[in-house]
Amino acid sequence: MYKKLFIPGPTHVRKSILDAQTAPMIGHRSTEYSDLQAEVTPKLQQLLYTEQPVFIFTSSGTGVMEGAIRQTVLKRALVTVCGAFSDRWHQIAVANGVPVDRIDVEWGQGFSPEAIDAALSQGDYDVLTIMLNETSTGVMNPLKEIAAMVREKYPDVVILVDAVSAMAGVKIEFDAWDLDVVISSSQKCFALPPGLAITAVSERALKRAEQVPNRGYYYDFPNMLKYYKRSQTPATPAVSLIQALNQQMDDVLQEGLEVRWARHIEMAEIVHVWARKHWALFANEAYLSNTVTAVANTRGISIADLNKELGKRGAMISNGYGSKLKEKTFRIAHMGDLTPKDIRWVLGLIDDIVGLA
Ligand SMILES: *Cc1c(COP(=O)(O)O)cnc(C)c1O
Repeated sequence: MYKKLFIPGPTHVRKSILDAQTAPMIGHRSTEYSDLQAEVTPKLQQLLYTEQPVFIFTSSGTGVMEGAIRQTVLKRALVTVCGAFSDRWHQIAVANGVPVDRIDVEWGQGFSPEAIDAALSQGDYDVLTIMLNETSTGVMNPLKEIAAMVREKYPDVVILVDAVSAMAGVKIEFDAWDLDVVISSSQKCFALPPGLAITAVSERALKRAEQVPNRGYYYDFPNMLKYYKRSQTPATPAVSLIQALNQQMDDVLQEGLEVRWARHIEMAEIVHVWARKHWALFANEAYLSNTVTAVANTRGISIADLNKELGKRGAMISNGYGSKLKEKTFRIAHMGDLTPKDIRWVLGLIDDIVGLA
């Protein structure tokens, strides 16, 4: 049976977007392809309030996390860890032999600018990684405030942002906040199938990358830029997905960016109110996410069984992330093209199954 996805990726993809992938194939060195990339790119720049390059990588978001940390660190990176995905930044740095330190907060907590300032002041760092949205815990960090602190006190630190589960669902002002690399994946708030990693890259990050020897091949930002200037990519891109992205961006802009951000906030509030009433929120109230909620399983029910029952009714939510949070929490994604009506529907199903109503 078809299940509507309320999991934090892949998210529900509308039929018209699935269909957009079946347009005839075009050569990736043809003018048709360059026209396509030249058409979709300004829409992505609009989404991110930027005039700087927005690259379309054919890979999942993790690939660009690796590419970004590998080609921006000359001295040492500081990785801020508040859950499983931010821990991934650290694993990636270690796996690539990149000098790195980490600062951890308890899962469910977020980072204040002051906490990051204190950590940055302890070492000679030239890269900082931040989670905009930590999908494992439902935490959203105050990126704008953190970036303002970094730009004021550590102007040369390159800021790498994991916005995988936030971009296209949450307002990110790339230029005004003076960010450096902001990464996403197509299967989260973009509501596309997986396979693309849309990434904004600043001039600061590009200049840094030029200085880094052995910066890797596939994600090499300066090489991406060379091809970007003629609306191409160095290697063959996922053309069908980019055709779907172009269609989806029309729909996103048609909805209106402010309307889209507000819809995400509205969906989040519905879930937060419901979770406070029947369960508890796992994340600190000061850092609640607009795109995914981690609900503490205060009733001690079987989340696996709940999801089985939901499946019979055509919906799917997520168990807690990893061995640490599985069965102790469950997650409801409210991102992408889902609507408040969808959210009320799935919460109503849970009410019925658990007997909450
Ligand atoms: C999903 C997710 C990732 C991993 O993205 P992939 O596209 O699976 O590589 C990384 N960070 C966050 C915050 C995520 O939600």
